[in-house]
Amino acid sequence: MRDEDLRASTNIDDRRGMGGVARGGIGLGAAVVLTLIGWATGIDPSVLIGGAEMVTSGGGSNYQAPQGRQGAPKDPVGSFVARVLGETEDVWAQILPAQAGRQYVKPTLVLYSGVTSSGCGTAQSAMGPFYCPNDRKLYLDTSFFQDMKAKLGGGGNFAYAYVIAHEVGHHVQNLVGLLPKVQNAERRSDPKTANSLSVRTELMADCLAGVWANHMNRRHANIDDSDLRQAVSTASAIGDDRLQKMSRGYAVPDSFTHGSSEQRVRWLSAGLRGGTIQTCDTFNR
Ligand SMILES: [Zn+2]
Repeated sequence: MRDEDLRASTNIDDRRGMGGVARGGIGLGAAVVLTLIGWATGIDPSVLIGGAEMVTSGGGSNYQAPQGRQGAPKDPVGSFVARVLGETEDVWAQILPAQAGRQYVKPTLVLYSGVTSSGCGTAQSAMGPFYCPNDRKLYLDTSFFQDMKAKLGGGGNFAYAYVIAHEVGHHVQNLVGLLPKVQNAERRSDPKTANSLSVRTELMADCLAGVWANHMNRRHANIDDSDLRQAVSTASAIGDDRLQKMSRGYAVPDSFTHGSSEQRVRWLSAGLRGGTIQTCDTFNR
């Protein structure tokens, strides 16, 4: 994936190096596995919303967000993230009004290292990337990219872009009013139903990432077959079944919160091919 044509977003709050180390106490290997499992099972809004931590340390009216450096970072990783975010802004500003009759409101992406606070409680690298609907910000510790590469063979620019686009997908779900509805429904449901709602929400975010990539490629012709294979192998590597097998040797379908490898690949591909939000109706299929 070529990113040099993409406009760098300035909606970045760069808190890297602002202090606070989250990894003390556990070994690096454990932290890496926790990061990956966290991304697949524990970190998304539906889960965060239910987290006790959020009640005590985030989202309150007197919550004060720390401030990092604002604007597009200049280092290679930060600049890449800013360009991907910029392209999500440009694509969604076009297609959300056209396809869903809503204006796109740009989210802020918080880059951090180790630990920081969010409107959804404390953000730690072991949680993996996530979107917080309370402050409408994306949280990303870029060490996640190294973890993807080292542990899952899921490295590569397009795979990283897909991770960011998935979180932006949750922001789109929030803007169209879907996230609050799902969260309310989950609170009223038994665990199995709540789980299935979470999986559908996650698969839709995968599909929306595919829709974005479809439009980016129309605008810049900057992804090729090897990028697509890379994204598919990443989607496959981070399926809940695969991660659960890695961590405990067997998979428990009812406890999936993001979907199986096969489902994630299928919905990412559907979005990539279809290029429309309507393709991504995971709740009615
Ligand atoms: Zn997600």
